[in-house]
Amino acid sequence: MSTPVSHVHRRQNVRKTLLLGSFLLFPVTFYYLSPYLIIMGAGERTASGSMVAFGVMTLTALVLGRLFCGWVCPAGGLGEALFTVQNRRANNSRNWTRWFVWVPWMAVVVLVTLSAGSIKRIDVLYQTDHGVSLTTAGGMGPYIIFYAVLALLFVLSLTAGKRGFCHHACWMAPFMMIGRRARNVLHLPGVQLRADTPACVACRACTAACPMSLDVQTMVLGQQMENSECILCGTCVDVCPHSVIHYDFGKPRSTNPSQPEKP
Ligand code: SF4
Ligand code: SF4
Repeated sequence: MSTPVSHVHRRQNVRKTLLLGSFLLFPVTFYYLSPYLIIMGAGERTASGSMVAFGVMTLTALVLGRLFCGWVCPAGGLGEALFTVQNRRANNSRNWTRWFVWVPWMAVVVLVTLSAGSIKRIDVLYQTDHGVSLTTAGGMGPYIIFYAVLALLFVLSLTAGKRGFCHHACWMAPFMMIGRRARNVLHLPGVQLRADTPACVACRACTAACPMSLDVQTMVLGQQMENSECILCGTCVDVCPHSVIHYDFGKPRSTNPSQPEKP
């Protein structure tokens, strides 16, 4: 059974519009995703907006996985906008580089928190100007950092394949990967992909379209749709000409009895 083209376009158009809108709002939301303000706030015994946001990402990933990355992440918005100039597949075997950023950074957050004593208050608007991250009141410094982050996003997206920043430098993805792994270990129900493997004709359209450069066809044929790099964007769901892949809500499962579930 073919997937209606208008339906395909509608869902992916909505997703891309959300991503682009989130990117355009990045100057407003920048501090809520900041890897620096979480440290600065911890030094003042304050849970900043970014500490709260990273906590929410981890907890919601128990149910929603990396839906944030696929649907509303500002960095993902820029990464996918750049597909028009660079559409090369990323190398998923090198994603470990991301943890070289995340682990030392988390160690610093913990050390600063412990040396300050503990977190005494929550201030979601910490360091913002009435909730807005970048304003002229903050001087040039925050703008320089903002444009440096954008430059990193550009360079990695153009040199390391599709969504190169997500694969190699994103400090937010690990929170959701940890939440997702916990969900799989605890066998909690959540949003996932499901495949009707016998209907697959091995055309590789899903693999070619995946913005995270996953070998989706192999996932389908191996009946193993759980993957820590999957951002649940639904692109494979929508491009498959035989409607093999679906969104699903339920407990983690592997339909292949010879292949255990990946945590
Ligand atoms: S496997 Fe499908 S849902 Fe997951 S990232 Fe790739 S295209 Fe998106
Ligand atoms: S697009 Fe559909 S039919 Fe083609 S390889 Fe992927 S799952 Fe199989």
